Amino acid sequence: MAETRQHVLVINCGSSSLKFSLFAGTARSALLSGLAENLGQTDSRLILKDHGGKTIVALDGGGHGAALRRLMAELQDRHLLDAIGAVGHRIVHGGERFLDATRLDMDLLTEVEALSYLAPLHNPANVLGVRVAMEVLGWVPHVAVFDTSFHTTIPRAAHSYAIPRAYRDAGVRRYGFHGTSHGFVAREAVELLGLDAEDHGLVIAHLGNGSSATAVLNGKSVDTSMGLTPLEGLVMGTRSGDIDPGALFHLSRRNGLSIDDLDSLLNRESGLLGLSGLSNDCRTLESAAAEGHDGANLAMDVMVHRLARYIGGLATSLRRLDAVVFTGGIGENSPLVRERTIDRLGVLGIVCDQAANAAMFGGRTGLVSVQNAGPAALVIATNEEWAIANEARRHMTGSQPTPPA
Ligand code: ADP
Repeated sequence: MAETRQHVLVINCGSSSLKFSLFAGTARSALLSGLAENLGQTDSRLILKDHGGKTIVALDGGGHGAALRRLMAELQDRHLLDAIGAVGHRIVHGGERFLDATRLDMDLLTEVEALSYLAPLHNPANVLGVRVAMEVLGWVPHVAVFDTSFHTTIPRAAHSYAIPRAYRDAGVRRYGFHGTSHGFVAREAVELLGLDAEDHGLVIAHLGNGSSATAVLNGKSVDTSMGLTPLEGLVMGTRSGDIDPGALFHLSRRNGLSIDDLDSLLNRESGLLGLSGLSNDCRTLESAAAEGHDGANLAMDVMVHRLARYIGGLATSLRRLDAVVFTGGIGENSPLVRERTIDRLGVLGIVCDQAANAAMFGGRTGLVSVQNAGPAALVIATNEEWAIANEARRHMTGSQPTPPA
């Protein structure tokens, strides 16, 4: 029976939602995927998508436990439950403790939970997802895949904040996030461009609601834009990215904002939303900017300026820049953001191929730069879920206990 259990269930658990994907063997597209949303509220529901379409199941106010139990029942009905050989969990923060994907037991889960002080918005929900999943799928390995792991190779000069040692020793440093995506996209780029796995330099721009850019030298992350938390760096949907820390003292003293006010201001009211006064959604802003909306124009301008500035800066951590890679919802689907950013990167010798760029969206992968002596620009569709499934699959070896009858 064990050798037939080749499916991997991937779970990404947030505070009020839970996303899942089920991968069969090594196939890159999910056999079944979906999400449970509004968990704990009266309209909580589970949405399942497969090749046949979409099924919506009301959870009647149920929380994470109800959602996972219902998902298990659906998997059972579809004769898929017994095929699961491992569960991969996305965990946002692994701190300095978790350098790689890790098979969890209760002790290790407690250690992950203890890192919640570094990611109070994410880790508690991630851990809750693992606990519930272990209850309902206790007979298979549960593997934690951390957003931070790919960045544990960042050298001290790039991960240290210039603050006194006592605080640095207490773990206040750059960790970086989106690591699963950056690692996956970097490996894909090396293959696509036929680069030497031991001798290449890439800057990956993962641009979604959350955005970060990473310098990858010979397969390893050597610098990244996000920091202790996912707030630092690029302009994001509702997050400010970089801001002078002195501005926070100013806002506190002058406007009386509390720590919680500042947290909410910079995480939820800033970024594209704050700049435009209109929306956090890049599509909405592109349309509004085309119609002359000043706030939307400003938001696009600042986003592109910051991104180009970061890509240029990150390139200095490499020995040679072979390519800039765009991924994530915006990176994969917005020819405009790419074209404007690549135009700013002319200084690095990158030239946009207008026609190729305009045709690159909707999950397509390929070059968007003119082939010349300079670095390439390309688009690669990220597949974080599949990358998590792959990590989890590595822990499937050995004998596995049988599911309860
Ligand atoms: P998340 O970080 O939540 O996973 P995504 O990677 O799905 O986010 O990215 C969401 C962003 O992608 C939104 O700002 C959305 O407007 C943008 N996006 C999606 N499609 C397009 C498009 N065709 N043109 C421009 N932006 C797009």
